[in-house]
Amino acid sequence: MEPRQSRAGAIPEDGLTRENPRYALKITSLLMLLGAISAVAFPYLGYSFQGQKIDALDYEGRVKHILDTTPLIDGHNDLPYLLRIELQNKIYDAEEFNFWDGENMIFLLAGFMEAGFWWDETEVDWCPDTRHFDDPDHAVRDTIEQIDVAKRLFAHHSTNLTYCTTSACAISSFKSKRIASMLGAEGLHQAGSALASIRQFFLLGVRYITLTHNCDNAFATAASTVTAGGKDNGLTEFGYAAVKEMNRLGMMVDLSHVSHDTMRDVLRVTRSPVMFSHSACYALARSYRNVPDDVLSGLRENGGVVMVMFVKRFLNAVDPESADMQTAVDHIFHVADTAGWEHVGIGADFDGTVTLADGIDDVTAYPRLIQAVMERGATDGQIRGLVGENILRVWRDNEMNAAAFEAAGELPVEDVWVERRFSRWDNPLPLMLPGNKKRVKAENYV
Ligand SMILES: [Zn+2]
Repeated sequence: MEPRQSRAGAIPEDGLTRENPRYALKITSLLMLLGAISAVAFPYLGYSFQGQKIDALDYEGRVKHILDTTPLIDGHNDLPYLLRIELQNKIYDAEEFNFWDGENMIFLLAGFMEAGFWWDETEVDWCPDTRHFDDPDHAVRDTIEQIDVAKRLFAHHSTNLTYCTTSACAISSFKSKRIASMLGAEGLHQAGSALASIRQFFLLGVRYITLTHNCDNAFATAASTVTAGGKDNGLTEFGYAAVKEMNRLGMMVDLSHVSHDTMRDVLRVTRSPVMFSHSACYALARSYRNVPDDVLSGLRENGGVVMVMFVKRFLNAVDPESADMQTAVDHIFHVADTAGWEHVGIGADFDGTVTLADGIDDVTAYPRLIQAVMERGATDGQIRGLVGENILRVWRDNEMNAAAFEAAGELPVEDVWVERRFSRWDNPLPLMLPGNKKRVKAENYV
């Protein structure tokens, strides 16, 4: 999900309502697009090329064969956020909202479903956490609600969706002709400045967390801060602790939205491959939201993946309106040329923005996009990596490393944010733990 372009004259990218005619367009496009992608992406619908030779210039045939045999995994889809702001998480009323079109199954796209809370856009100050990261807010509650509604959605449509928390599940789901559905959280502000929240989000099924969204938090500096003229402070000390803990858990570290120095700091210390769930290239579009070349090069050693997004202004920062499918292909090739084909993926940002590149309005565009990449000379093997194999490798590496850390007896990180307060309200209890040598006078204790 992307921020408004500026605080004044904002574009309400996520402000779709029933009163807003774009609401109807959004639903209509969902119904159309999902039917179409199912016809291409799923072998049981009649396309089978096993044992057949496909002419190298038969691009359409090659694309179909690839999608028949390789899961397409999109790194970022904001649908759960729309469920929150448009339906208040009430998904069972078919008259209000219907994913499925009667006998014709309507497929969502495979991918990580964001379990993301986003700040209320009507606020003038839309970075309330920057006042004090220890202030109470509703981020953790709202994130749990988003996880809950996404899981309820998966369960309610379990004939077609499989909720997955492992890379093996994503592969077996594809083989069983269901759409693997995974959870990611867009921003560590959602953790309430506590590592315990990260651990519990993992137990609830979240498999990646973006270190920042569009504000700094207790862990790291956001790209939007640098865009607004702020200093790039990279990771905080607490952020280093968070990366260590995410590595231990097998929670993938997502570096979309973070500042360039945050990216560099993480690459220096992470023990597992990173991901960029929805990003583009700074060399082609000078937005701090995008990934600079030195970071792209660093992915060769790290093993991570940049999943290219289709938001216009991040594909072309000078003339966003001109951004189209070929512009997106430019970014895919730039990642491949700089980092290698093993380090590129797709992270459209569907349902999180209305400013998508021309020709890539929805998931029906994937086959055309893949064909455009193929026509520029990418091999079928390179394209398999692009559509799904690379992110599956990153995910599996994170899982294997986590298993190794556990086998080595690594304990959970107990660091707390440096300005964390442990208030006791006015409870007049004395300190009661016998033998406690670390007694600290609690605030408000009389
Ligand atoms: Zn985003």
